[in-house]
Amino acid sequence: MALALSSQIARLIDRGALFVVNHSGGKDGQAMLAILRQYIPADQLLVIHAHLPGVEWPGTIEHIRATTKGLPLIVCEAVKTFFQMVERRGMFPSPQQRQCTSDLKRGPIEREIRRYLKANPRFGGLVVNCMGLRAQESPKRAKAQEFKFNARNSKAGREWYDWLPVQDLTKDQVFAVIAAAGEKPHWAYGAGMTRLSCCFCIMASRQDLCTAARLRPKLYRRYVGLESRIGHTMMMPAKGEAPKYLEEITGISA
Ligand code: SF4
Repeated sequence: MALALSSQIARLIDRGALFVVNHSGGKDGQAMLAILRQYIPADQLLVIHAHLPGVEWPGTIEHIRATTKGLPLIVCEAVKTFFQMVERRGMFPSPQQRQCTSDLKRGPIEREIRRYLKANPRFGGLVVNCMGLRAQESPKRAKAQEFKFNARNSKAGREWYDWLPVQDLTKDQVFAVIAAAGEKPHWAYGAGMTRLSCCFCIMASRQDLCTAARLRPKLYRRYVGLESRIGHTMMMPAKGEAPKYLEEITGISA
């Protein structure tokens, strides 16, 4: 799959920027990495995975490692786990207030990028943080700016940009990129999941929740138990609807 590189990106490659590939183990991060390695010199690429202990699919780190093909890979973790975060707040994150993304993924990844730049002065603090968001996934992602200067992180000698290289790709194109690279997507897709990262995501479809409940019954029990203990549902109800607990949504008894 050819990428129409903007002149801004071409210039950043020439300037020797570090390109960081955010990789959750899902298809979008995998396809993004397969594409970027065609354009970005290997010594300017770094892969980072924010690991979510206990809630992501088994084999995710191994899967990512198999697709990095020798590129440096950093696996980072937040100081708290997903369950600790929910227990402390007494509620699950919501699609509007996604503390899970900001605290468990974005925060740790940005911390690792700062560390890496400091330890590798050859990049001169110049970094492009690449994320695998796609327009097809949601109206919000469709509206997201594909490339932008990140003023919040451009301090202490850093010049930081955010880039969504696969924003315009369809789901089918993403799988085609993975196949063309001679790779396979994470096993959970073959088992019926449509999205990856956390097995049970606060934004998952009913179908994915049911599939995950069947594939990971013990973990499902933990979510169901947590909902009942804190009296708060994991899934936000649709506008005008009453909240529903996981067992009500899936129809699967824990
Ligand atoms: S996969 Fe879902 S639940 Fe997990 S961190 Fe991302 S948004 Fe939150």
